Amino acid sequence: MELLQLSESVCQLRGGTNIGLVVDGRRALVIDAGLDRDAGRRIARAARQLGVEIVAVAITHAHADHFGGAAEVKRRTGALVYAPAFEAAIIENPELEGYYLFSGARPPIELRHKFILAPGCHVDGQVEAGEQEIAGFHVEAIPMPGHAQNQMMFGVGDICFAGDTFFHDSVLDKYGIPFYVDVAQADESLQRLAALAERFSRFVPGHGPAVADVVPLVESNRERIRTICDHVRVALGDVAEVGDILASVAKAMRVSISAPAIYYLTLTTIHACLSALQAAGEAAVAVEENRAVWRLTSQS
Ligand SMILES: [Zn+2]
Repeated sequence: MELLQLSESVCQLRGGTNIGLVVDGRRALVIDAGLDRDAGRRIARAARQLGVEIVAVAITHAHADHFGGAAEVKRRTGALVYAPAFEAAIIENPELEGYYLFSGARPPIELRHKFILAPGCHVDGQVEAGEQEIAGFHVEAIPMPGHAQNQMMFGVGDICFAGDTFFHDSVLDKYGIPFYVDVAQADESLQRLAALAERFSRFVPGHGPAVADVVPLVESNRERIRTICDHVRVALGDVAEVGDILASVAKAMRVSISAPAIYYLTLTTIHACLSALQAAGEAAVAVEENRAVWRLTSQS
């Protein structure tokens, strides 16, 4: 992992998932913990190289690639782990992610992959929205729900660790249909992110390099959400069952789903679009001949 200095006291450990290291004297706060035990080991090694002791880990949201290393960091250093409510429940019970992706049922083996099922970790304290001290570090926690139910960004000085509030264009293109649990909230979060553009000198996304100007990426992320919802709306003219809607949207967006885990993640985003359309009065669901049938409402 590459260690980049973002400000006098803040470093970014660049890897598959970005990790923040906030240093105060000989103490360090880690922000997000990477995918697995290996990531945890690398975080502990980076702290040793800097000559600091990790005293706390703060997690932006409970996706495996952001908290999977937390248990290992905790085991090696005794650090206290902090996370927003709801996310904390999943970090402590990581099998919940596979369950929610599989309609609440025992997930199949493909949904117990390490990208979905991370090692669980005891959470010592909940992060509330707003300015606070986390283990003596001044942190501003800014709610950014939408990609995850209670995701929060962490502002430290003029650096903002954004979790997966926004993605680089290359990441949007890699996934095609990124993961959202609530597209309306994700869009509102992106608008609030744009409003914070002047507050922070650098925004560190979950994946890829830190950015100074977040506004163009806010626009491309909002555009991607709009595009997915538009394709769902169009699909509702032809097909009615959620699996068919997914296939139609993926085809229209030239997305080729390569594995069952990606299918179920994408299905969540399609469900998020459907419930958003229903909340906007544009779509309705009914059961017909034992099928859940989604249709556009007559006024839309
Ligand atoms: Zn995520």
